[in-house]
Amino acid sequence: MGKIRHSSYKIRLMLIITYICAGIIPLLLFTVVVFKTTENYFIDERKKELLNQANVYSGHITISGYMSDSSNKRAFDRDIELTSEQSGYRIIVTDDMGAVVNDSNGTEIGKTVLLPEIMEALEKKDVATEQKNGNIYAVTSVVDENGKKIGTVLVAEETTDIEDMVNGIKKPIYVMNVLISFIVLAFVLVMSQTITGPLSKLLEVIRSMSEGHLDTRMPVDECSNNEIMQMAVAVNNMADALEQVETSRQNFVSNVSHELKTPLSSIKVLSESILLNSEAPKEMYIEFLKDINSEVDRMNEMINDLLTLVRLDQKEVPLNFKTESINDVLEDIIKRLRPLADNKEIDLQYNAVKEVEADIDRTKITLAISNLVENAIKYTDNGGNVKVTLDCDHQNTFITVADNGIGMAEDELQNIFQRFYRIDKTRARETGGTGLGLSITRSTVMLHNGSIKVTSHENEGTTFVVRIPLTHVD
Ligand code: ADP
Repeated sequence: MGKIRHSSYKIRLMLIITYICAGIIPLLLFTVVVFKTTENYFIDERKKELLNQANVYSGHITISGYMSDSSNKRAFDRDIELTSEQSGYRIIVTDDMGAVVNDSNGTEIGKTVLLPEIMEALEKKDVATEQKNGNIYAVTSVVDENGKKIGTVLVAEETTDIEDMVNGIKKPIYVMNVLISFIVLAFVLVMSQTITGPLSKLLEVIRSMSEGHLDTRMPVDECSNNEIMQMAVAVNNMADALEQVETSRQNFVSNVSHELKTPLSSIKVLSESILLNSEAPKEMYIEFLKDINSEVDRMNEMINDLLTLVRLDQKEVPLNFKTESINDVLEDIIKRLRPLADNKEIDLQYNAVKEVEADIDRTKITLAISNLVENAIKYTDNGGNVKVTLDCDHQNTFITVADNGIGMAEDELQNIFQRFYRIDKTRARETGGTGLGLSITRSTVMLHNGSIKVTSHENEGTTFVVRIPLTHVD
């Protein structure tokens, strides 16, 4: 039980891990990527805006001639202050050596600012970058009337407003993510319960069956036609089959006991009558001993048949397949059984349509076909006829044993291959026979991957057709 629970927890854990890997992690990654992309977009837009601003102001400086004429210093200070106030940016103007010529904050004037962005603007092209402290610097060069670079304009601004805006949308989205995760987790737990619940129930049922409770069944919910329910149906069917095997095993044992008891009781009665009757004449002794002897023969025959059947069932002795002439096999059988037919003046005919060779176990097939021919002779009245025919096609050989004997009723035909089944039990005692012959024949034919069919009409006759593949494949 512990193990079963354990395995159902494992499946549940696997489902939850799958859900985390396939659901939560991609959701979080997606959210983070979306935030980062949004933030980068706004920062890029801001860079463009600042570069634009720096360009406009650099053009304005060139036109105003602030850099070349120091008498404009005051106008330059006022101008830069005003522009900074209007735009909200800090503006720094440097000369071509990086020395600060003007600063909207007024703090850096006179200092040399050797920022890489300023160098790049002087040496190559205008540039806008995001700083570690979160500010954006946009630097453009200032040119004189001849187009010579004489300085730079640096426009700087913080990005805190962008961060604030992104953070503002982050919170509700994260809350939504957590909510979605919980809803999906609850869904996964419910789903895993609907999968593992019936699965552990099924395992319990199988376990109970393996402990010998073959009557245990899994309740099948007709509505949910999923794989687990199909498995439950399959397990129930398997249990039915096992129960059938168990019942037929018990029947077999009780049949064997019953069949052996009959001759044993006769022997007991016969021997007791001799023992109690000490004055009995010699002829009576001989008579009774003959009867005892024939009962022992009968038991012997039955035990031999039983042993043959058990060996066939257990496949204890593997079949010895060899390519044999079926014509030879049938001729031998006919030769051996002809005296039996002659005793009853039965016309035993043999007709081979073709020469046939097939992979068979000769001893076993001889026994199987002999049973059919013996039955045909046994269940045909004196003067009747029995016909054995051999034919084949590309794949199979067909052996037909037909008689015009007593025949069988239609509804008996499905039972005659069962062990110990005899149609007329009283008659069977006269004719001999154990009721095992046809079971042996069928088991043998099955082991050859063949089949056996019977048609019969009461008082008209019976025909058995045995099909055996020409080549044996394991
Ligand atoms: P048995 O040893 O009694 O012959 P089988 O298993 O060979 O046992 O046959 C089972 C029963 O099938 C027989 O008891 C008989 O009633 C019936 N049967 C078999 N072969 C024939 C046949 N050719 N004609 C009529 N009945 C047959």
